[in-house]
Amino acid sequence: MLYRLPLHRIRYADSHVHLDQYDDRAAAGLVARARAAGVREMLLVSTGVLSSRRTVALARGFPGVAAAVGVHPRNAGGMDVDAIRRLVAANRDVVRAVGEIGLDRDGGARAPLKAQTVAFQVQLGLAAAEGLPAVIHAVAAHKQVAAMLGAMRAQLPGVVIHYFAGAEDDLRRYLALDCHISFGRLLLKPEGEPLHRLVPLVPAQRLLVETDTYPLPGRQTEPMDVAGVVRLVAALRGEPLGRTAALTSDNFRSLFGPVPDLPAFRPLAVARRRARRLYRRARRRL
Ligand SMILES: [Zn+2]
Repeated sequence: MLYRLPLHRIRYADSHVHLDQYDDRAAAGLVARARAAGVREMLLVSTGVLSSRRTVALARGFPGVAAAVGVHPRNAGGMDVDAIRRLVAANRDVVRAVGEIGLDRDGGARAPLKAQTVAFQVQLGLAAAEGLPAVIHAVAAHKQVAAMLGAMRAQLPGVVIHYFAGAEDDLRRYLALDCHISFGRLLLKPEGEPLHRLVPLVPAQRLLVETDTYPLPGRQTEPMDVAGVVRLVAALRGEPLGRTAALTSDNFRSLFGPVPDLPAFRPLAVARRRARRLYRRARRRL
C-alpha cells in the first residue's frame, strides 16, 4: 500500500487507537487515511496479551505509530504479567507505554473488582520499573483509580486518563496528580456536553486527544476523526485549530517520545541524499 506524504500544515496525534482489532488490510487502510488527513502520530493501545503482541507487530509496520502494551481491566482475570513484561523487554523501541490498565465498575465488566485491582497494581509496578507512562481506563471508579495512582505517581514518568468522562472533582483530582487528560469523541455527542465546561480547566501541557477507534457494529470511528475532536477542543479553549493541534501533538511527543516515520515514508530526505550523491560524483569527474 502506498502512503501519501501528508502535506497538511496541521498535524494531529491520536493518543488511543485499537488497531489490533482490525485485520491487516483494514488496519493499513485506517493508517493511510489518517495520514492523508494529517494524523502523523498514533498510540496503539492493547487490551490483553494477544492484543499486545499484535499491537507491537502493527506498530513496527507503520510510520508514526507507537505501542502501549497491557491488560484491560475487563480482561484482568488470569492475567499473565510476565508475558507483558517480556514483550516490553523485547520491544523497547516501539513500546512507549503500559496500557490500557485501570478499573472498570460498569455493570458489564467481566473481571471481579479484586482481580482488576491486582492487575492494575501489578501493571502500574511494571510501568514504574520500565520507566514507561501508564494509559488509564477508569469507568465508575475515579476515586479508587486516583488513590492507586497517587500512591505510585512519583515513580511513573507520565499518566494518561484516557477518554475522560468524569465530573469536575475527578478532573481536579487527576490534575493534582499531574495526569494528562485525553478527550475523545464523547465531546461531540449530546451526552458529552457536560464535559465542555471542563475542557478549558486542563492546562495546555496536559491536554491530549483521541478517537478510541475500535470496531463496533454501527460505530464508525477512525483515527482521521481526531481532527473533529481537536476542532471542538480548540473552540472550547478559544484558540485557533492549529494551536490546539500543535500542543496536543507536542504533548504526545513529550510523553511517548518521538515516533519516527519509517525511512520509506521520508521521500524528501531520500531525494536530498540522492542529490548529494549525484553532486559528489559530478564533482569528482571535474
Ligand atoms: Zn481503549
